[in-house]
Amino acid sequence: MSEEKSKTALLKEQLTMGEPKGIKSLSAEEIQKADEFCEGYKTFLNASPVEREAVKYSVAAAQKVGFVEYDPNAQYKCGDKVYLVNRGKAIALAVIGKDGVKNGARLAIAHIDSPRIDLKPNPLYEANNLALFKTHYYGGLKKYQWTAIPLTLHGTVVKLGGETVDICWGDEENESCFCVTDLLPHLAQEQVTKPMSKAFTGEDLNVLVGSRPFDTEDKESELVKLNVLKILNDKYGITENDFLSAELCLVPSFKTKDIGFDSSMIGGYGHDDKVCAYPALMAAIDVENPQQTCVTYLTDKEEIGSDGNTGMQSDFLRYFIYDLAKQDGVEGYRALSKSICLSADVNAAFDPTYASAYEAKNSSYINNGVVISKYTGHGGKYDTSDASAEFMGKIRTMLENNKVLWQIGELGRVDLGGGGTIAKYVANMNVDVVDLGVPVLSMHAPFEIVSKTDVYMAYRAFFVFFDEK
Ligand code: MN
Ligand code: MN
Repeated sequence: MSEEKSKTALLKEQLTMGEPKGIKSLSAEEIQKADEFCEGYKTFLNASPVEREAVKYSVAAAQKVGFVEYDPNAQYKCGDKVYLVNRGKAIALAVIGKDGVKNGARLAIAHIDSPRIDLKPNPLYEANNLALFKTHYYGGLKKYQWTAIPLTLHGTVVKLGGETVDICWGDEENESCFCVTDLLPHLAQEQVTKPMSKAFTGEDLNVLVGSRPFDTEDKESELVKLNVLKILNDKYGITENDFLSAELCLVPSFKTKDIGFDSSMIGGYGHDDKVCAYPALMAAIDVENPQQTCVTYLTDKEEIGSDGNTGMQSDFLRYFIYDLAKQDGVEGYRALSKSICLSADVNAAFDPTYASAYEAKNSSYINNGVVISKYTGHGGKYDTSDASAEFMGKIRTMLENNKVLWQIGELGRVDLGGGGTIAKYVANMNVDVVDLGVPVLSMHAPFEIVSKTDVYMAYRAFFVFFDEK
């Protein structure tokens, strides 16, 4: 028998999509590079559960390689590296290109906020000799997932008079942490018959923060609460009123862990969307003398609709591009209209346990590379930017030419639900944009999972996008 392929087999190879290339197409060297890249990513993720911390990490990493704070009155030349922080919660990093922004900028935009539990403005109370925090969850949570796991407190308090205190409690190995309690199964026979949305509500996300009374002979009430306030006052100099001007978040206290006997994946809190933010940050750090000015923008508030002055709907990035354009002697709107953008955001990886939530042919898969989502939205492509055929063609060609492993993916099956990203807000600025990011398992859970090679391919995608001549 001949080993030669039949004419039909050759035609099939030529005309059909075939099986995805997947991780089998990567060399051992590439997989090793991915593993090494992810060590840096794990450090970033552990250091940055909330957006302010991600900004601090990014500033330090950028300064180390020569980025300086942006000065709108300075004149920049090709290769110069600048950054601009927005209210401590978002950051733009630009590497000035040979053409500046005359022919538009290259934008990679990711968000650095993640689903979590925020404290209410008046959070602390005592009930049955326990001290607890009232909370208001942030972003899309399955609330039951946040019970009975260790939580740490991160955030900022502004005292009367304006002094700022950063709070981080529960991260150290031997430091105490906090927890939302849950009902034992024996007493949950009513609870378990309720639909999931009713079995555990937002007002049930009360966080246990103390149980010992303040040590006194005085006959006073609420001494457990007083004891908590005394501890906070001793450590941070704050009082109960200072909670009124604070941003305090509870996030899972566990650090990242490799997943699988083969350590091929990473489990951790906040992959969505630090897993795209870090590769986009590293692409800005690594690119040198690009043709067009490259901008990595790490934004806030995506998980709650991108509203507010640190979210993608703010004019912060628009004005930054306008300032860059002014220095290049072009109108800001012209620079924007020629700009192109990769909206760096995760997609839900196909999960065989929940296969019915996906449509297999148009889902992204762990280890098949960075995923492009042409559109997101819900209910008949509502509420999304739908990337043009032309722009899809351009990005596809770029990835293929540079041997970046990539795949296409929709977020779940049609009409099941849906989601949104920052892409539509970028598109509304008259910019060509498409979502490109890392497939995630257990997205929005306290412990999400990504593949190391997919993380690395996200970095490769952003880098070749910035480096393209
Ligand atoms: Mn995201
Ligand atoms: Mn999300």
